[in-house]
Amino acid sequence: MPTTPPAIDLRSDTVTLPTPAMRAAMASAEVGDDVYAEDPTVNRLEALAAARLGKEAALFVASGTMANAAAILTHCRRGDALVVGDRAHIWEAEVGGAARLNGSMALPVPNRPDGTFDPARVEALFAASEDIHAPRIGLLCLEDTHNMCGGRVIDAAHLREMAAPARRRGVPVHLDGARLFNAAVALGVPARALAAEADSVMFCLSKGLSAPVGSLLCGDRAFIADARRVRKVLGGGMRQAGILAAAGILGLEEMVDRLAEDHANARRLAARLAAVPGLDLRPDEVESNFVFFHVREADGPKAVSNGERPGDDPVPAAPAAFIRAAAAAGVLVSEGDDGRVRAATHSGVTADDIERAANVLARIAERHSAPLPTS
Ligand SMILES: *Cc1c(COP(=O)(O)O)cnc(C)c1O
Repeated sequence: MPTTPPAIDLRSDTVTLPTPAMRAAMASAEVGDDVYAEDPTVNRLEALAAARLGKEAALFVASGTMANAAAILTHCRRGDALVVGDRAHIWEAEVGGAARLNGSMALPVPNRPDGTFDPARVEALFAASEDIHAPRIGLLCLEDTHNMCGGRVIDAAHLREMAAPARRRGVPVHLDGARLFNAAVALGVPARALAAEADSVMFCLSKGLSAPVGSLLCGDRAFIADARRVRKVLGGGMRQAGILAAAGILGLEEMVDRLAEDHANARRLAARLAAVPGLDLRPDEVESNFVFFHVREADGPKAVSNGERPGDDPVPAAPAAFIRAAAAAGVLVSEGDDGRVRAATHSGVTADDIERAANVLARIAERHSAPLPTS
């Protein structure tokens, strides 16, 4: 009996597994009590992360969500508002943590399809915040690469422009760089060139860098000292965490440059899918390891253009049936927040896998969007 090949999992780069070298490093990691700052491996990871991002210090935390929450709680007084893009992970996908944990309401600014926003909108929010009826603004948040906007890459000049209204007023800027190294590799610049545009930056070890657990929050020494207290109150003080940090060190040392392969695979997948009649996507918008596309319904109108928020228009039909059919055929993809399908490339998929996945998705799209038989 032929065996079914394992599924090609393109749902997210969070499904990456630790490399054999990571497992070996974890098994032999030198450890201590990290709440006493006595875990040498955690200390080494934090120093390495700070150096890579050009910051004075770094803090190892359990997740990207915890890093962002710690940044918000450290930068903002209780009740301060934060300015954030309306497609940002902090706004859409972190359980309202800013409000729940810090009484910080978010003031969303519309993200453009490329993940940037208009600094004039931010300027207007700051101007309005001078009125006694408005909350003080304690933080401006940026994101790079921009997840919900399709893994779009934002360069340093655009980050600087978006941050300028906060900078002018001495309000801190936090960069959600869950995939900052993807952005850096795509732009061909060191990550510190992007990190320089923000006071604090977080990045994830557990996505494209393929470590099992963890994120780093980076900033100046005083900020990280405060954030260390905040991590404790969030329940994030860990003990012999060097076992996890050991894998993170290898993520930074060995898994950054290879992100270029993931980007090449994403471009390859996009080029193939763009030629499929039932799918709508713009290959020129694939800038890192995400491919987002609309599935055209057989009897429906052409789907909204790529990257556009549907706004008041009806949201296109959820592509659930397409995603189910792909899963049944051995290709796992996920659903974006805007009715698009998302495929993420990562260290667990090869160029061959991408070829096979493209064939499967093309076949399903053709079936899915086939015109209904006319009597
Ligand atoms: C994944 C992600 C996070 C959160 O990281 P977790 O480790 O899943 O909590 C934050 N921001 C962005 C942009 C992300 O993609």
